[in-house]
Amino acid sequence: MDNHVYDLVGVGIGPFNLSLAALLEDIPEIDSVFFDQKPHFDWHPGMLIVGTRLQVPFMADLVTLADPTNKYSFLNYLAQKNRLYPFYFLQRLDIPRREYNDYCQWVENELDNCRFGHKVVDLEYLENEGHYVVSVQNMETEEIGQYQAKNLVLGTGSSPRLPKAFQGFSSENVFHTAEFLDRQDRCRQAKSVTVIGSGQSSAEAFRELLKERMEHPYKLTWITRSRSFFSMEESKLTVEQFSPDYVNYFYRFPQEKKDEIFASQDLLYKGISSHTITDIYNLLYENSVSNEDMNVDLQVLTEVHDIKEKGDTYEISCHQWEQNHDFTHESDVVIVGTGYHPNVPPFIKSLSSYIAWDDKGRYEVEPDYRLRMNIPNQIYVQSGISHSHGVGSTNLGLAVHRNKIIINHLLGEEKFPIYDKYVFQNFDAEKF
Ligand SMILES: Cc1cc2nc3c(=O)[nH]c(=O)nc-3n(C[C@H](O)[C@H](O)[C@H](O)COP(=O)(O)OP(=O)(O)OC[C@H]3O[C@@H](n4cnc5c(N)ncnc54)[C@H](O)[C@@H]3O)c2cc1C
Repeated sequence: MDNHVYDLVGVGIGPFNLSLAALLEDIPEIDSVFFDQKPHFDWHPGMLIVGTRLQVPFMADLVTLADPTNKYSFLNYLAQKNRLYPFYFLQRLDIPRREYNDYCQWVENELDNCRFGHKVVDLEYLENEGHYVVSVQNMETEEIGQYQAKNLVLGTGSSPRLPKAFQGFSSENVFHTAEFLDRQDRCRQAKSVTVIGSGQSSAEAFRELLKERMEHPYKLTWITRSRSFFSMEESKLTVEQFSPDYVNYFYRFPQEKKDEIFASQDLLYKGISSHTITDIYNLLYENSVSNEDMNVDLQVLTEVHDIKEKGDTYEISCHQWEQNHDFTHESDVVIVGTGYHPNVPPFIKSLSSYIAWDDKGRYEVEPDYRLRMNIPNQIYVQSGISHSHGVGSTNLGLAVHRNKIIINHLLGEEKFPIYDKYVFQNFDAEKF
């Protein structure tokens, strides 16, 4: 047991907690340490496909939207790597996803309060002492150490969602898009590859497979339950819904209404970026030159409800729901793009009696990102808050604003000014 009592212990170091760790470096009043089970920072490594871009402007880096003068800004990263001129001539706001990862790794290497290769395995609250005890396993030695903390911040992100129908098969052949790059060689050797789902990750995997078909002529199929391979709403006025103003507006609704609103916002985050669709269309066209049977199928309106092993291949049971028509399709490799779900660590349940839960078993969250609890020591949450704070909760651009609010709350003063209005439009009729 380390006898020191930290002001803040962070669980998980994805971009959200890394941003908090970076902002805290200039705030000596808050003594913090952050843990992550991975050996080093790595942002969705299976999807760091060459040519993929960040879906937000580079200004949504780890610090700029809180403090543009912070040394951990993306522009300072470029300056330190002597890449400012190439970036200046590039004239783009949407940086490569691989570059965002490299930038975050640069920040991580500079920070003293981040410990990688350490998994948080348990939490306990000592009522008499008024602090938490965090059990942390060193992933190399397997030893468990204990750290004391007045407050916690959970930034455990999300995990790939693999529906039951796709579980229990060889992970070489049936896998989630999150593993795409690890399994790309397997795809190259397959006679047929099928991608299921029409979100951004599925589209990026399909685009990559389509690119490589000239050299690796597998049969390629893309199936979605949706009515079309639809594009995300990305217009400037629409994306103002990823603003603090919209978070505040959304937060004030009763939970039932929030669930209803959230369920109607698919177009904001579930579709495909229009530039990815354009790339795919161009590649389809290229593939079709002097090629009567392209061996590429795109099937919409079709739900996959089961797959079965059939010798060396898989039989996929499909249902065209509008025609009520069942059919099967065979494929050697099945790539499942069924999204992610919040990774709520199981040990949070050990503090269950202190936390308020809603009738769907979700924790209740205060406007300033603290769990609603009956004890004075806070648990701030960065992940699993879409139900309380809305569609922007997983957006990189809002994470920095959230960290401003968390830091202000920890300090008990407005270190970072918070304004009532940030964007042009009003959501709230009272502000009209
Ligand atoms: C492929 C992909 C691309 C995306 N692109 C964008 C984009 O361009 N723009 C955008 O706004 N959003 C994007 N998102 C959404 C969002 O920004 C990311 O999911 C982002 O990574 C969320 O950050 P995070 O810090 O919550 O979690 P994560 O990045 O998921 O990190 C969580 C960390 O917690 C660690 N962890 C979990 N449990 C423990 C434990 N018990 N102990 C120690 N460590 C633990 C994990 O190892 C992990 O490193 C993307 C999402 C995906 C999947």
